[in-house]
Amino acid sequence: MREAKFYKTLGQEKVRCNLCPHLCIIEPGERGICGVRKNLDGHLKTENYGLVSAIHFDPVEKKPLYHFFPGKSILSFGSIGCNFTCGFCQNCDISQTTVDDYPWLNHYSIDQILNIAFSDDSSVGIAYTYNEPTIYFEFMFDIAREIEKARLRNVMISNGFITEEPLDELLPHIDAFNIDLKSFRNEFYKEQSGARLKPVKETLKKIRAAGKHLEITNLVIPTLNDQRDTFHEMLAWIRDELGEETILHLSRYFPAYQMTIPATPREVLNELYEIARSYLPFTYMGNINSDHGSDTFCPSCNNLLIERSGYSVRITGINENGDCSRCGMKVFKYYKK
Ligand code: SF4
Ligand code: SF4
Repeated sequence: MREAKFYKTLGQEKVRCNLCPHLCIIEPGERGICGVRKNLDGHLKTENYGLVSAIHFDPVEKKPLYHFFPGKSILSFGSIGCNFTCGFCQNCDISQTTVDDYPWLNHYSIDQILNIAFSDDSSVGIAYTYNEPTIYFEFMFDIAREIEKARLRNVMISNGFITEEPLDELLPHIDAFNIDLKSFRNEFYKEQSGARLKPVKETLKKIRAAGKHLEITNLVIPTLNDQRDTFHEMLAWIRDELGEETILHLSRYFPAYQMTIPATPREVLNELYEIARSYLPFTYMGNINSDHGSDTFCPSCNNLLIERSGYSVRITGINENGDCSRCGMKVFKYYKK
């Protein structure tokens, strides 16, 4: 447990946490919405510092990141807690719990994590993932600076619900992001995740303005966020505000946690994929076997650049610089043979 960053003392030992847009006002002895930041005698503590729920090497494609060192692995770890309460959470055992209720956490020092990260030469760095990394900000930040010194890469897989100050502090140290854009309706964020859309849009714009690698995941849940008019609106916003080079993952939903709506029909995902590709050429389908929905084609000459099946990758049309081997178009800024 460590002293948390980004909080204000309010008197009568109350504190206000400024880490995420919930801005929780926390009474002594209580926790914020995320369940892992606790007011102890007027001091806000981060309870999950150094506590790891899972740590292992994954393919970068599993994050998902399709344009960031394709075919390489990355050390991925998570802790517990989340500032969202998504009824469809696939990691609810670690996201919707507290240190008191989850006895399977392991203590790791920063050196221990670095030693694991350096043990695999094919790994490109560390991904902060599984639960929401914003709410283990201090631990992530301390590791990220060491990873950076070792000239490895930091990746954050996040819901994007973070306030300006911590994001500004973090941005220089994170190379790539995959941000969930769960819906383009604020009501969805409010009803399904206990959050708001606007701060997520602000985060996306800031990441883009900082020139960081950005991929977006949109989990398609039938009847809840697959309305075509809203979908078009979201795609137009991504294209116009973030650029048409933005990578979009349309992920197939399956029932999980409290959500019993049947899985996304294949034909719905196929239809949305075709719509999305007319706005964003680098759109992919995830959580589904499809003929070409996970492959990368050159937007200039349509050369097949990367063929993907599950998490396995076959690089077919890229030269050693990450450019299309047929027409020379620069497609992959982050590429290592
Ligand atoms: S990080 Fe946690 S405690 Fe802080 S404002 Fe967000 S939900 Fe509340
Ligand atoms: S933001 Fe992600 S980890 Fe958090 S509750 Fe939602 S789906 Fe789960």
